[in-house]
Amino acid sequence: MAFTSPYQKPGRWFKGNLHTHSTQSDGELTPDQVIAWYDDHGYDLIAVSDHWVLSKGQTIRPDLITLTAAELHGAGYHLLTLGLTELPPREWADDPQRIIDALKAQGALCYIAHPYWTGQSSAEVMALQNLDGLEAFNAVCEESKGNGHSRVHWDDCLAAGRQLTGLAVDDSHWHRPWQGIGYVMVRAPQLTEEAILSALAQGDFYSSTGPVIEDLGVLQNAHGEWEAYVRCSPCREIIFYTAAQRGRRIAAADGELISTARLALHPQMRYVRVECRAADGGVAWANPIYLAETS
Ligand SMILES: [Zn+2]
Ligand SMILES: [Zn+2]
Repeated sequence: MAFTSPYQKPGRWFKGNLHTHSTQSDGELTPDQVIAWYDDHGYDLIAVSDHWVLSKGQTIRPDLITLTAAELHGAGYHLLTLGLTELPPREWADDPQRIIDALKAQGALCYIAHPYWTGQSSAEVMALQNLDGLEAFNAVCEESKGNGHSRVHWDDCLAAGRQLTGLAVDDSHWHRPWQGIGYVMVRAPQLTEEAILSALAQGDFYSSTGPVIEDLGVLQNAHGEWEAYVRCSPCREIIFYTAAQRGRRIAAADGELISTARLALHPQMRYVRVECRAADGGVAWANPIYLAETS
C-alpha cells in the first residue's frame, strides 16, 4: 500500500484560506486589511487571489505568510492558481487548457473553483488535464446561492481515474460576513511558501468548516482484509465515498456522536475519501486515498 498518511508525517498543521478577494479586484478590503482579518482569526497562511491580478507571496512574520495567487476565469470556468510566477496572457482566457498548461510549466498549482456555482459539468472538469484539484466547498457560493458544494464533480472525476485534491475555501469578497468558514489544514515541516505549496501538491492537507480529522489510513484487519479508517473530532456522521454504489454512511445513534469509522475495501474501489459531519453542520473533507494497489 503506497499511501503515506499526512496525519502521521512529521511537521505541524497550518490553517489557511486559499481564496479571497481584495480591492485589487472585486473585494471591499485592501490586501493588508484582508491579511489582518485572517491573522486576527488564527490563520497561518492566506492567498489573496484576485481576478487576473498576481499577488506575490510574502513572509509577514515567522508565523504568518501569504501565497502567490490569482483567480483566472474565462468562458465556463474559474481557476484558482497558487505559486505562479506570471499571469498567462488574458487573450488566452477562453482556452482553459492552454492557461493550465502555461501555469503548470511555471510550477504553479491549479484548482477548478466552485464548478457547481459556475454551471460547469463534471465532464467539462474531467476534460481538463493537469489539474491539481477543485474546490469541494466554496463558502461564498454556499452562503449566497446554496451551490457551494461540488462533491459530485469531485467524485465523478475520481471515479474516472483523475487524482484531484479537494479544497474548502472562503472566496471572501467582504460585502457580507462570509469569511472564516471554509479552510484548509496543511501538514508541513515549516511555514514557508515553498513548504506549503509542496504539501498542497502532495495532498498533505484536509479541508474543513469545523471538524478536525486526526488520522486516516488503510490497514489490514485480523483476517488480512484491507480497511480504510478515520479518526476525527466528535461528529454526527462519517461518510466514505468511493466507487459508485459502494460507499457507506455511518451515523451516530440519536443524541450521540462518533469519532471513528471503518470501511472494508473492495477491489472495485478505485479510491476512498472521507467526510466527517458535525452536529452543527460543519464538515471536514479528507483527500482521497488511491486504492489501485489493493485491487
Ligand atoms: Zn470565482
Ligand atoms: Zn473568487
